[in-house]
Amino acid sequence: MNKCPKCGTIQYHKEFQKNLKVCSECSHHLRLNAWERIEMTLDEGRFFEYDADMDSVDPLQFPDYMEKLNLQKAKTGLKEAVITGEGTIGGFPVVVAVMSFEFFTGSMGSVVGEKVTRAIETAQQKQYPLIIFSTSGGARMQESILSLMQMAKTSAALAKFHEAGGLYISVFTDPTMGGVSASFAMLGDIIIAEPGARIGFAGRLVIEQTIRQKLPDEFQTAEFNLKHGQIDLVVPRKDMRQTLIKLIDLHTVKGEVTHGG
Ligand SMILES: [Zn+2]
Repeated sequence: MNKCPKCGTIQYHKEFQKNLKVCSECSHHLRLNAWERIEMTLDEGRFFEYDADMDSVDPLQFPDYMEKLNLQKAKTGLKEAVITGEGTIGGFPVVVAVMSFEFFTGSMGSVVGEKVTRAIETAQQKQYPLIIFSTSGGARMQESILSLMQMAKTSAALAKFHEAGGLYISVFTDPTMGGVSASFAMLGDIIIAEPGARIGFAGRLVIEQTIRQKLPDEFQTAEFNLKHGQIDLVVPRKDMRQTLIKLIDLHTVKGEVTHGG
């Protein structure tokens, strides 16, 4: 049995899985890890992972960082907060990067930045569309400035990809905050979000304390960002795969991908 964290409705595990982990009562979209997302999105059995063995090191000798990393690996069965690779969707070849919030709150360290950058570069070489599913609590504090550098690195790779005419679809999932929201997640040619996803740079409390004003309830939700033009589409999970296929199809002319800008 599963209990919806938002409305408390109890649902049968099987029904809940069939519903793609969306509450049948209140439509709350529960968080997914990278493998669940890949399975729901790509054509079955058509995924090839890149850089599966890339591992974080502890360049700053930050106290307890390695222990914490090992704990995260054991807890989630993942090696890092992002999985990258290629596959097909509706028969179209794509490069994807998919983040997991459950691994170290999806924080961006050197490995996340490097894997995302390499995925962008591979998409450019192969002239495949790029899809990134983001979720992140922000920077990997234990890597300090090396973590912040990943914002510039991924953004620079995307600028080149864009110049070369590549199509990049960015999907915000709950929550996407900090450095990820302020770098590659915001740079899509098309920016999509799942319903109810929290999107922002700093947290609500920090902003309220800084500007000394109360923020509206829907502040930092996908719907708020849609209304204010920060994102292009809010797409329920059940429609995500078909929407991505349609968008890639629209931007593909006789086997060539264009971003249409
Ligand atoms: Zn619910």
